[in-house]
Amino acid sequence: MNIVLLGPPGAGKGTQAERIAKTYGVPHISTGDILREAVAAKTELGQKAQAYMGRGELVPDELVIGIVDERIQRPDCAKGFLLDGFPRTIQQAEALDEKLTRQDKRLDVVLNIVVDEEELIKRLTGRRICATCGAPYHVLFKQPQAPGVCDVDAGELCQRPDDTEEVVRNRLEVYKRQTAPLIEYYRDRDILVDIDGDRPVEQVFENIRSALEAKV
Ligand code: ADP
Ligand code: AMP
Repeated sequence: MNIVLLGPPGAGKGTQAERIAKTYGVPHISTGDILREAVAAKTELGQKAQAYMGRGELVPDELVIGIVDERIQRPDCAKGFLLDGFPRTIQQAEALDEKLTRQDKRLDVVLNIVVDEEELIKRLTGRRICATCGAPYHVLFKQPQAPGVCDVDAGELCQRPDDTEEVVRNRLEVYKRQTAPLIEYYRDRDILVDIDGDRPVEQVFENIRSALEAKV
C-alpha cells in the first residue's frame, strides 16, 4: 500500500508512522529525517537545506523531489511505502503523481491528521527526539523509560533546533500557506481520510488502522 501522512508539524505523523511501518511492513520515509541526517553529515544537500530548516521554511521543491524520487525506486518500496512530511506543496504533489504514474503506481490513501493549533504548540515545544534514530518523545506526553535516553537504541534525547516557540509559529504559518492546500487536492481525488489526532496515541492508531483496512 502506498500511503501519505499529511498534517501540520506536531500532529503525530512520526509517532504514527513508526506503528504503521511496523504493522504493515512498509518503509517509513520521512523527508525531515533524511534532511536532518544530511545536515548532521554536512553533505552538499545538508548544507543547502540547513538555513531553510533553521528558519522553519520549506527546503526548495527540487531538492526534496529528487530525494523522494530516488528513495521510492529502491527495492524495499516495491510493495508499498509510507511518506511522512512529503509532499508539502502542490508542486511536490504533482511531481509525485507524475513519478508514480511513470512507474505504473499510484497513491492508495492520504491520512490527514487533524490537531488544533494550541495543542500543536504544546507538542512541538515539548518534543525531544533521539539524536541517533530520530524517535519522538515528549517531556509530558511520552517520557522515555530512563530520563534523556532513547528506549529503542539508548541514543541521547535532544531538542530539535526548529522546535523553539518562535520557529514553531513560523512553521505553522508555512503549513497553512503552502501545505494545507493539499487537503483539497487529495480530497478532490477521493483518497483523503481525516483522522482526529487529538486523542491518545493508541486510539489515533486504531482509527488509522480502520481507515487502512477499509482501503484494502
Ligand atoms: P510530527 O511528525 O507530525 O511533527 P510527532 O510524531 O513528532 O509529530 O509528534 C509531536 C510531539 O507530540 C512528540 O513529542 C510526540 O511524542 C507527541 N505526540 C504525538 N502524538 C501524540 C498524541 N496523540 N497525544 C499527545 N502527544 C502526542
Ligand atoms: P519535519 O521533520 O517533517 O517537521 O521537517 C523538518 C523541516 O525539514 C521542515 O521544516 C522543512 O524545512 C524541511 N522539510 C521536510 N520535508 C520537506 C518537504 N517535503 N518540503 C520542503 N521542506 C521539507
